[in-house]
Amino acid sequence: AGPQNKTYALQNRHPESNEQIEKVLESLRLDDEKLRQIMQYLEKEMEDGLSPATHKNADVKMFPTYVRTIADGSETGQVLALDLGGTNFRVLLVTLLPQSRVELTSKIFVIPQSIMLGEGANLFRHLAECLLEFMRKENLSLTGPRYPLGFTFSFPCKQEGLASARLSTWTKGFTCSGVVNEDVVKLLQNAIDEKKINVQCVALVNDTVGTLMACAYKDPNTAIGLILGTGTNACYVEKLDKVGTWDGDYNEPKQVIINMEWGAFGNNGRLNYIRTKYDEEVDLSSVNPGKQVFEKMISGMYMGEIVRLIILDLMQQDLLFIGQRDGYGDYSTPLFTRGGFYTKFVSTVETDEGIAFANTRRVLEDMGIRNPTFDDCAIVQHICKNVSKRAARLAGAALAVLINRINKPNVTVGVDGSLYRYHPRFKRNMEKCMKTMVSKNIKFKLTLSDDGSGKGAALIAIVADRYQRSQLR
Ligand code: BGC
Ligand code: MG
Repeated sequence: AGPQNKTYALQNRHPESNEQIEKVLESLRLDDEKLRQIMQYLEKEMEDGLSPATHKNADVKMFPTYVRTIADGSETGQVLALDLGGTNFRVLLVTLLPQSRVELTSKIFVIPQSIMLGEGANLFRHLAECLLEFMRKENLSLTGPRYPLGFTFSFPCKQEGLASARLSTWTKGFTCSGVVNEDVVKLLQNAIDEKKINVQCVALVNDTVGTLMACAYKDPNTAIGLILGTGTNACYVEKLDKVGTWDGDYNEPKQVIINMEWGAFGNNGRLNYIRTKYDEEVDLSSVNPGKQVFEKMISGMYMGEIVRLIILDLMQQDLLFIGQRDGYGDYSTPLFTRGGFYTKFVSTVETDEGIAFANTRRVLEDMGIRNPTFDDCAIVQHICKNVSKRAARLAGAALAVLINRINKPNVTVGVDGSLYRYHPRFKRNMEKCMKTMVSKNIKFKLTLSDDGSGKGAALIAIVADRYQRSQLR
Protein backbone atom coordinates (compact mmCIF):
# COMPACT_ATOMS: atom_id res chain seq x y z
CA ALA A 1 0.00 0.00 0.00
CA GLY A 2 1.45 3.26 -1.24
CA PRO A 3 4.62 4.78 0.14
CA GLN A 4 4.94 2.15 2.84
CA ASN A 5 6.40 -0.34 0.40
CA LYS A 6 9.62 1.58 0.26
CA THR A 7 10.55 0.94 3.86
CA TYR A 8 9.93 -2.75 3.36
CA ALA A 9 12.09 -3.02 0.21
CA LEU A 10 14.12 -6.21 0.18
CA GLN A 11 17.75 -6.06 -0.85
CA ASN A 12 17.91 -9.63 -2.10
CA ARG A 13 20.00 -9.79 -5.27
CA HIS A 14 17.76 -12.38 -6.88
CA PRO A 15 14.69 -10.46 -7.96
CA GLU A 16 12.91 -13.59 -9.18
CA SER A 17 12.57 -14.87 -5.59
CA ASN A 18 11.75 -11.43 -4.20
CA GLU A 19 8.20 -11.68 -5.28
CA GLN A 20 7.64 -15.03 -3.58
CA ILE A 21 9.20 -13.79 -0.35
CA GLU A 22 7.14 -10.62 -0.43
CA LYS A 23 4.07 -12.75 -0.82
CA VAL A 24 4.87 -14.58 2.40
CA LEU A 25 5.53 -11.34 4.27
CA GLU A 26 2.50 -9.57 2.84
CA SER A 27 0.42 -11.27 5.52
CA LEU A 28 2.27 -9.26 8.19
CA ARG A 29 1.57 -5.82 6.76
CA LEU A 30 -0.93 -3.52 8.35
CA ASP A 31 -1.72 -0.39 6.43
CA ASP A 32 -3.17 2.70 8.11
CA GLU A 33 -6.70 1.74 7.25
CA LYS A 34 -6.39 -1.63 8.96
CA LEU A 35 -4.82 0.03 11.99
CA ARG A 36 -7.68 2.51 12.24
CA GLN A 37 -10.12 -0.39 12.26
CA ILE A 38 -8.15 -2.10 15.02
CA MET A 39 -8.19 1.14 17.02
CA GLN A 40 -11.97 1.24 16.83
CA TYR A 41 -12.21 -2.35 18.01
CA LEU A 42 -9.89 -1.63 20.92
CA GLU A 43 -11.91 1.40 21.97
CA LYS A 44 -15.03 -0.80 22.02
CA GLU A 45 -13.29 -3.51 24.05
CA MET A 46 -12.14 -0.89 26.53
CA GLU A 47 -15.72 0.28 27.05
CA ASP A 48 -16.76 -3.35 27.60
CA GLY A 49 -14.07 -3.79 30.22
CA LEU A 50 -15.09 -0.62 32.08
CA SER A 51 -18.79 -1.32 32.13
CA PRO A 52 -20.22 -3.53 34.93
CA ALA A 53 -22.73 -5.09 32.50
CA THR A 54 -20.03 -6.40 30.15
CA HIS A 55 -16.91 -6.59 32.33
CA LYS A 56 -17.22 -10.26 33.19
CA ASN A 57 -16.95 -11.45 29.60
CA ALA A 58 -14.66 -8.68 28.35
CA ASP A 59 -11.19 -9.60 27.15
CA VAL A 60 -9.56 -6.26 27.88
CA LYS A 61 -10.22 -6.18 31.60
CA MET A 62 -9.50 -2.53 32.39
CA PHE A 63 -8.86 -3.25 36.09
CA PRO A 64 -9.07 -0.23 38.42
CA THR A 65 -5.84 -0.22 40.45
CA TYR A 66 -6.75 1.86 43.50
CA VAL A 67 -3.77 4.05 42.68
CA ARG A 68 -5.26 7.51 42.40
CA THR A 69 -2.75 10.10 43.43
CA ILE A 70 0.09 10.42 41.03
CA ALA A 71 3.52 10.87 42.58
CA ASP A 72 4.74 14.44 42.53
CA GLY A 73 8.33 14.18 43.66
CA SER A 74 7.68 15.06 47.29
CA GLU A 75 7.77 11.44 48.48
CA THR A 76 10.71 10.44 50.67
CA GLY A 77 11.68 7.37 52.66
CA GLN A 78 13.11 3.88 52.33
CA VAL A 79 11.24 0.81 51.07
CA LEU A 80 11.80 -2.62 49.68
CA ALA A 81 10.32 -3.82 46.42
CA LEU A 82 9.95 -7.10 44.57
CA ASP A 83 9.63 -7.13 40.79
CA LEU A 84 8.25 -10.35 39.33
CA GLY A 85 7.00 -11.07 35.86
CA GLY A 86 9.56 -9.76 33.39
CA THR A 87 12.82 -11.13 32.10
CA ASN A 88 14.28 -11.09 35.60
CA PHE A 89 13.06 -11.34 39.16
CA ARG A 90 14.56 -8.55 41.23
CA VAL A 91 14.65 -7.48 44.84
CA LEU A 92 15.19 -3.77 45.35
CA LEU A 93 15.94 -1.35 48.14
CA VAL A 94 14.78 2.10 47.15
CA THR A 95 15.58 5.32 48.96
CA LEU A 96 13.58 8.33 47.88
CA LEU A 97 15.31 11.62 48.64
CA PRO A 98 14.09 15.21 48.36
CA GLN A 99 13.85 16.76 44.86
CA SER A 100 12.85 13.55 43.12
CA ARG A 101 16.21 11.93 43.72
CA VAL A 102 16.20 8.16 43.98
CA GLU A 103 18.88 5.79 45.25
CA LEU A 104 18.49 2.18 44.39
CA THR A 105 20.28 -1.09 45.02
CA SER A 106 18.98 -4.29 43.59
CA LYS A 107 19.81 -7.90 42.98
CA ILE A 108 18.60 -10.19 40.24
CA PHE A 109 17.55 -13.71 41.17
CA VAL A 110 16.69 -16.55 38.85
CA ILE A 111 13.27 -18.14 38.81
CA PRO A 112 13.90 -21.68 37.61
CA GLN A 113 11.52 -23.10 35.03
CA SER A 114 10.51 -25.76 37.56
CA ILE A 115 9.19 -23.03 39.85
CA MET A 116 7.44 -21.15 37.02
CA LEU A 117 5.49 -24.28 36.17
CA GLY A 118 5.21 -25.77 39.66
CA GLU A 119 3.18 -25.18 42.79
CA GLY A 120 2.34 -21.63 43.82
CA ALA A 121 3.51 -22.26 47.38
CA ASN A 122 7.02 -22.95 46.10
CA LEU A 123 7.03 -19.76 44.06
CA PHE A 124 6.19 -17.57 47.06
CA ARG A 125 8.59 -19.43 49.34
CA HIS A 126 11.30 -18.78 46.76
CA LEU A 127 10.45 -15.07 46.66
CA ALA A 128 10.66 -14.83 50.46
CA GLU A 129 14.01 -16.64 50.48
CA CYS A 130 15.44 -14.23 47.90
CA LEU A 131 14.14 -11.29 49.93
CA LEU A 132 15.83 -12.62 53.07
CA GLU A 133 19.11 -13.20 51.27
CA PHE A 134 19.00 -9.65 49.88
CA MET A 135 18.28 -8.10 53.29
CA ARG A 136 21.22 -9.97 54.80
CA LYS A 137 23.49 -8.82 52.02
CA GLU A 138 22.37 -5.20 52.48
CA ASN A 139 22.74 -5.45 56.27
CA LEU A 140 19.15 -4.49 56.87
CA SER A 141 17.99 -5.09 60.42
CA LEU A 142 15.95 -8.30 60.60
CA THR A 143 14.39 -7.51 63.95
CA GLY A 144 13.54 -3.80 63.94
CA PRO A 145 10.27 -2.19 62.84
CA ARG A 146 8.67 -3.63 59.73
CA TYR A 147 9.89 -2.42 56.36
CA PRO A 148 7.12 -1.55 53.93
CA LEU A 149 7.32 -3.45 50.65
CA GLY A 150 5.84 -2.77 47.24
CA PHE A 151 5.24 -5.83 45.11
CA THR A 152 5.39 -5.41 41.36
CA PHE A 153 3.47 -8.41 40.14
CA SER A 154 3.14 -8.17 36.38
CA PHE A 155 0.12 -10.34 35.73
CA PRO A 156 -3.59 -9.60 35.35
CA CYS A 157 -5.08 -9.07 38.79
CA LYS A 158 -8.47 -7.96 39.97
CA GLN A 159 -7.56 -5.50 42.71
CA GLU A 160 -9.76 -5.27 45.75
CA GLY A 161 -7.60 -2.61 47.31
CA LEU A 162 -4.03 -1.45 47.10
CA ALA A 163 -2.78 -4.44 49.11
CA SER A 164 -5.27 -7.03 47.97
CA ALA A 165 -5.41 -8.48 44.48
CA ARG A 166 -6.63 -11.73 42.99
CA LEU A 167 -4.77 -13.24 40.07
CA SER A 168 -7.21 -13.60 37.18
CA THR A 169 -4.94 -15.70 34.96
CA TRP A 170 -1.23 -16.38 34.48
CA THR A 171 0.57 -15.11 31.36
CA LYS A 172 4.09 -15.20 29.91
CA GLY A 173 5.03 -18.79 30.60
CA PHE A 174 3.99 -18.96 34.27
CA THR A 175 1.45 -21.60 35.22
CA CYS A 176 1.93 -22.10 38.99
CA SER A 177 -0.93 -24.03 40.51
CA GLY A 178 -3.10 -22.77 43.35
CA VAL A 179 -2.70 -19.06 42.66
CA VAL A 180 -5.46 -18.13 40.19
CA ASN A 181 -8.32 -16.42 42.08
CA GLU A 182 -6.23 -16.22 45.25
CA ASP A 183 -5.14 -13.02 46.95
CA VAL A 184 -1.54 -12.73 45.83
CA VAL A 185 -0.60 -10.31 48.61
CA LYS A 186 -1.75 -12.83 51.22
CA LEU A 187 0.26 -15.60 49.58
CA LEU A 188 3.36 -13.45 49.60
CA GLN A 189 2.82 -12.14 53.15
CA ASN A 190 2.32 -15.67 54.49
CA ALA A 191 5.59 -16.78 52.91
CA ILE A 192 7.36 -13.73 54.37
CA ASP A 193 5.89 -14.34 57.85
CA GLU A 194 6.87 -17.98 57.69
CA LYS A 195 10.49 -16.88 57.42
CA LYS A 196 9.95 -14.39 60.28
CA ILE A 197 11.07 -11.46 58.14
CA ASN A 198 10.03 -8.01 59.37
CA VAL A 199 8.53 -6.89 56.11
CA GLN A 200 4.97 -5.86 55.33
CA CYS A 201 3.62 -5.87 51.79
CA VAL A 202 1.62 -2.63 51.59
CA ALA A 203 0.92 -2.48 47.85
CA LEU A 204 0.64 -4.74 44.84
CA VAL A 205 1.35 -2.96 41.60
CA ASN A 206 1.32 -3.92 37.94
CA ASP A 207 4.58 -3.09 36.16
CA THR A 208 2.79 -0.64 33.86
CA VAL A 209 1.53 1.25 36.92
CA GLY A 210 4.98 1.31 38.49
CA THR A 211 6.37 2.65 35.25
CA LEU A 212 3.73 5.38 35.04
CA MET A 213 4.40 6.43 38.64
CA ALA A 214 8.17 6.45 38.28
CA CYS A 215 7.87 8.63 35.20
CA ALA A 216 5.27 10.94 36.79
CA TYR A 217 7.69 11.50 39.67
CA LYS A 218 9.77 13.49 37.18
CA ASP A 219 7.26 14.60 34.54
CA PRO A 220 3.79 15.79 35.60
CA ASN A 221 2.37 15.27 32.09
CA THR A 222 2.75 11.52 32.45
CA ALA A 223 -0.63 9.85 31.98
CA ILE A 224 0.26 6.46 30.49
CA GLY A 225 2.55 3.60 31.50
CA LEU A 226 3.62 1.14 28.81
CA ILE A 227 5.55 -2.13 28.95
CA LEU A 228 7.14 -3.66 25.87
CA GLY A 229 9.16 -6.54 27.23
CA THR A 230 8.56 -10.22 27.76
CA GLY A 231 4.87 -9.27 27.70
CA THR A 232 3.06 -6.10 26.77
CA ASN A 233 0.45 -3.98 28.51
CA ALA A 234 -0.49 -0.39 29.29
CA CYS A 235 -2.19 1.59 32.03
CA TYR A 236 -3.48 5.15 32.03
CA VAL A 237 -5.17 7.73 34.22
CA GLU A 238 -8.95 7.57 33.74
CA LYS A 239 -11.74 9.80 35.07
CA LEU A 240 -13.75 8.05 37.76
CA ASP A 241 -17.06 8.79 36.05
CA LYS A 242 -15.87 6.72 33.08
CA VAL A 243 -15.16 3.70 35.28
CA GLY A 244 -18.47 1.90 35.78
CA THR A 245 -16.75 -0.89 37.70
CA TRP A 246 -15.30 1.51 40.30
CA ASP A 247 -16.44 0.58 43.82
CA GLY A 248 -14.27 2.90 45.89
CA ASP A 249 -14.98 6.43 47.09
CA TYR A 250 -15.51 9.46 44.87
CA ASN A 251 -13.21 11.83 46.75
CA GLU A 252 -10.71 14.02 44.94
CA PRO A 253 -8.82 13.37 42.82
CA LYS A 254 -11.67 11.93 40.76
CA GLN A 255 -9.42 9.65 38.79
CA VAL A 256 -7.86 6.21 38.99
CA ILE A 257 -5.14 4.39 37.12
CA ILE A 258 -6.62 1.65 34.95
CA ASN A 259 -4.54 -1.45 34.27
CA MET A 260 -5.82 -2.27 30.81
CA GLU A 261 -4.35 -5.75 30.29
CA TRP A 262 -4.38 -5.06 26.57
CA GLY A 263 -2.41 -8.24 25.88
CA ALA A 264 -5.73 -10.11 25.92
CA PHE A 265 -7.17 -7.97 23.11
CA GLY A 266 -8.28 -10.37 20.38
CA ASN A 267 -8.93 -13.41 22.57
CA ASN A 268 -12.54 -13.37 21.33
CA GLY A 269 -11.40 -13.69 17.71
CA ARG A 270 -11.66 -9.98 16.97
CA LEU A 271 -8.15 -9.89 15.51
CA ASN A 272 -8.25 -13.18 13.63
CA TYR A 273 -8.49 -11.40 10.29
CA ILE A 274 -5.02 -9.89 10.76
CA ARG A 275 -3.39 -12.96 12.29
CA THR A 276 -1.04 -15.04 10.16
CA LYS A 277 -0.46 -18.77 10.21
CA TYR A 278 2.73 -18.02 12.16
CA ASP A 279 0.74 -16.28 14.88
CA GLU A 280 -1.56 -19.25 15.08
CA GLU A 281 1.35 -21.64 15.40
CA VAL A 282 3.00 -19.53 18.10
CA ASP A 283 -0.26 -19.53 19.99
CA LEU A 284 -0.87 -23.25 19.71
CA SER A 285 2.57 -24.16 21.01
CA SER A 286 2.35 -21.71 23.95
CA VAL A 287 1.37 -22.65 27.51
CA ASN A 288 -1.81 -20.53 27.15
CA PRO A 289 -3.37 -21.19 23.73
CA GLY A 290 -6.15 -18.81 22.77
CA LYS A 291 -5.00 -16.27 25.38
CA GLN A 292 -3.02 -13.03 25.10
CA VAL A 293 -3.59 -12.81 21.36
CA PHE A 294 -2.47 -9.16 21.03
CA GLU A 295 0.55 -9.76 23.27
CA LYS A 296 1.67 -12.68 21.13
CA MET A 297 1.83 -10.42 18.05
CA ILE A 298 3.93 -7.83 19.84
CA SER A 299 6.03 -8.82 22.82
CA GLY A 300 9.51 -10.18 23.30
CA MET A 301 8.47 -13.59 24.50
CA TYR A 302 7.08 -14.39 21.03
CA MET A 303 8.78 -12.17 18.45
CA GLY A 304 11.82 -14.36 17.87
CA GLU A 305 9.60 -17.38 17.50
CA ILE A 306 7.49 -15.69 14.80
CA VAL A 307 10.69 -14.88 12.92
CA ARG A 308 11.90 -18.46 13.28
CA LEU A 309 8.67 -19.86 11.84
CA ILE A 310 8.89 -17.57 8.82
CA ILE A 311 12.52 -18.54 8.28
CA LEU A 312 11.53 -22.20 8.33
CA ASP A 313 8.70 -21.56 5.91
CA LEU A 314 11.02 -19.83 3.44
CA MET A 315 13.55 -22.65 3.80
CA GLN A 316 10.87 -25.16 2.99
CA GLN A 317 9.94 -23.18 -0.10
CA ASP A 318 13.59 -23.15 -1.16
CA LEU A 319 13.82 -19.39 -0.84
CA LEU A 320 16.42 -19.14 1.91
CA PHE A 321 19.79 -20.75 2.75
CA ILE A 322 19.63 -22.38 -0.63
CA GLY A 323 23.22 -23.62 -0.79
CA GLN A 324 22.82 -25.16 2.69
CA ARG A 325 20.03 -27.43 1.75
CA ASP A 326 21.95 -30.67 1.54
CA GLY A 327 23.30 -30.19 5.00
CA TYR A 328 19.95 -30.07 6.84
CA GLY A 329 19.88 -33.74 7.57
CA ASP A 330 23.20 -33.95 9.31
CA TYR A 331 23.71 -30.78 11.28
CA SER A 332 21.39 -29.50 13.87
CA THR A 333 20.54 -25.83 13.86
CA PRO A 334 18.56 -24.31 16.70
CA LEU A 335 16.34 -22.97 13.94
CA PHE A 336 14.62 -26.34 13.98
CA THR A 337 13.86 -26.08 17.70
CA ARG A 338 11.00 -24.14 19.22
CA GLY A 339 12.34 -20.99 20.84
CA GLY A 340 15.65 -21.44 19.00
CA PHE A 341 15.70 -17.90 17.60
CA TYR A 342 15.77 -15.40 20.48
CA THR A 343 14.06 -12.04 20.27
CA LYS A 344 17.36 -10.38 21.13
CA PHE A 345 18.65 -11.71 17.78
CA VAL A 346 15.93 -9.69 16.06
CA SER A 347 17.44 -6.58 17.63
CA THR A 348 20.97 -7.66 16.71
CA VAL A 349 20.05 -8.38 13.10
CA GLU A 350 18.29 -5.06 12.72
CA THR A 351 21.30 -3.20 14.05
CA ASP A 352 23.07 -3.85 10.72
CA GLU A 353 22.86 -0.96 8.32
CA GLY A 354 24.05 -1.12 4.74
CA ILE A 355 25.19 -4.29 3.03
CA ALA A 356 27.96 -5.73 5.20
CA PHE A 357 25.56 -7.57 7.55
CA ALA A 358 28.29 -8.26 10.11
CA ASN A 359 25.84 -8.86 12.99
CA THR A 360 23.35 -10.82 10.93
CA ARG A 361 26.14 -13.03 9.63
CA ARG A 362 27.33 -13.69 13.16
CA VAL A 363 23.83 -14.58 14.37
CA LEU A 364 23.30 -16.96 11.47
CA GLU A 365 26.69 -18.58 11.91
CA ASP A 366 25.91 -19.11 15.58
CA MET A 367 22.76 -20.82 14.35
CA GLY A 368 24.88 -23.28 12.41
CA ILE A 369 24.32 -21.73 8.98
CA ARG A 370 27.74 -22.05 7.33
CA ASN A 371 28.86 -19.04 5.33
CA PRO A 372 25.52 -17.30 4.93
CA THR A 373 25.30 -15.46 1.62
CA PHE A 374 24.44 -11.83 1.11
CA ASP A 375 20.93 -12.88 0.11
CA ASP A 376 20.53 -15.04 3.22
CA CYS A 377 21.40 -12.07 5.43
CA ALA A 378 19.24 -9.63 3.49
CA ILE A 379 16.23 -11.90 3.65
CA VAL A 380 16.57 -12.69 7.36
CA GLN A 381 16.90 -8.99 8.15
CA HIS A 382 13.90 -8.29 5.99
CA ILE A 383 11.84 -10.82 7.94
CA CYS A 384 12.92 -9.31 11.27
CA LYS A 385 12.06 -5.81 10.09
CA ASN A 386 8.60 -6.86 8.99
CA VAL A 387 7.81 -8.68 12.22
CA SER A 388 9.09 -5.95 14.54
CA LYS A 389 7.50 -3.21 12.49
CA ARG A 390 4.12 -4.89 12.69
CA ALA A 391 4.54 -5.09 16.48
CA ALA A 392 5.57 -1.45 16.73
CA ARG A 393 2.62 -0.30 14.62
CA LEU A 394 0.16 -2.33 16.67
CA ALA A 395 1.52 -0.93 19.92
CA GLY A 396 1.64 2.58 18.46
CA ALA A 397 -1.96 2.43 17.27
CA ALA A 398 -3.15 1.15 20.64
CA LEU A 399 -1.28 3.97 22.39
CA ALA A 400 -2.88 6.47 20.04
CA VAL A 401 -6.30 5.28 21.22
CA LEU A 402 -5.30 6.13 24.80
CA ILE A 403 -3.72 9.46 23.96
CA ASN A 404 -6.75 10.57 21.96
CA ARG A 405 -8.99 9.48 24.80
CA ILE A 406 -7.00 11.39 27.42
CA ASN A 407 -7.09 14.37 25.04
CA LYS A 408 -4.80 16.77 26.91
CA PRO A 409 -2.44 19.14 25.07
CA ASN A 410 0.64 17.28 26.35
CA VAL A 411 0.78 13.59 27.15
CA THR A 412 3.89 11.76 28.29
CA VAL A 413 4.08 7.98 28.09
CA GLY A 414 6.47 6.27 30.52
CA VAL A 415 7.89 3.18 28.83
CA ASP A 416 9.91 0.23 30.07
CA GLY A 417 10.73 -3.28 28.91
CA SER A 418 13.53 -5.14 27.18
CA LEU A 419 12.03 -5.00 23.70
CA TYR A 420 11.65 -1.22 23.74
CA ARG A 421 15.01 -0.76 25.36
CA TYR A 422 17.17 -2.89 23.09
CA HIS A 423 15.46 -2.90 19.72
CA PRO A 424 17.17 -0.33 17.48
CA ARG A 425 14.05 1.03 15.76
CA PHE A 426 11.01 0.01 17.76
CA LYS A 427 10.56 3.47 19.23
CA ARG A 428 11.01 5.20 15.89
CA ASN A 429 8.50 2.92 14.17
CA MET A 430 6.00 3.40 16.95
CA GLU A 431 6.34 7.18 16.90
CA LYS A 432 5.94 7.31 13.16
CA CYS A 433 2.68 5.43 13.37
CA MET A 434 1.51 7.52 16.33
CA LYS A 435 2.14 10.78 14.47
CA THR A 436 -0.43 9.61 11.93
CA MET A 437 -2.94 8.28 14.44
CA VAL A 438 -2.85 10.82 17.30
CA SER A 439 -5.05 13.93 16.97
CA LYS A 440 -3.09 16.85 15.64
CA ASN A 441 -3.79 19.08 18.65
CA ILE A 442 -2.02 16.72 21.07
CA LYS A 443 1.72 16.61 21.66
CA PHE A 444 2.98 13.27 22.95
CA LYS A 445 6.32 12.08 24.22
CA LEU A 446 7.71 8.61 24.92
CA THR A 447 10.07 8.57 27.90
CA LEU A 448 12.16 5.57 28.87
CA SER A 449 11.54 4.96 32.53
CA ASP A 450 14.73 3.54 34.00
CA ASP A 451 13.99 0.83 36.56
CA GLY A 452 10.46 2.12 36.30
CA SER A 453 8.51 -0.86 37.51
CA GLY A 454 10.51 -1.40 40.71
CA LYS A 455 10.93 2.28 41.52
CA GLY A 456 7.25 2.96 40.93
CA ALA A 457 6.21 0.14 43.24
CA ALA A 458 8.45 1.67 45.90
CA LEU A 459 6.81 5.07 45.42
CA ILE A 460 3.35 3.63 45.73
CA ALA A 461 4.39 1.64 48.79
CA ILE A 462 5.73 4.77 50.50
CA VAL A 463 2.52 6.66 49.86
CA ALA A 464 0.47 3.69 51.10
CA ASP A 465 2.63 3.24 54.18
CA ARG A 466 2.41 6.92 55.03
CA TYR A 467 -1.36 6.74 54.68
CA GLN A 468 -1.67 3.60 56.84
CA ARG A 469 0.43 5.17 59.59
CA SER A 470 -1.68 8.33 59.52
CA GLN A 471 -4.81 6.17 59.96
CA LEU A 472 -3.32 4.42 62.99
CA ARG A 473 -2.60 7.67 64.77
C1 BGC B 1 0.66 -9.22 31.86
C2 BGC B 1 0.57 -7.78 32.33
C3 BGC B 1 1.93 -7.13 32.30
C4 BGC B 1 2.58 -7.31 30.94
C5 BGC B 1 3.97 -6.71 30.88
C6 BGC B 1 1.37 -9.30 30.53
O1 BGC B 1 1.56 -10.62 30.16
O2 BGC B 1 -0.61 -9.78 31.74
O3 BGC B 1 0.04 -7.72 33.64
O4 BGC B 1 1.81 -5.78 32.60
O5 BGC B 1 2.65 -8.68 30.63
O6 BGC B 1 4.82 -7.29 31.82
MG1 MG C 1 10.16 -5.35 34.21
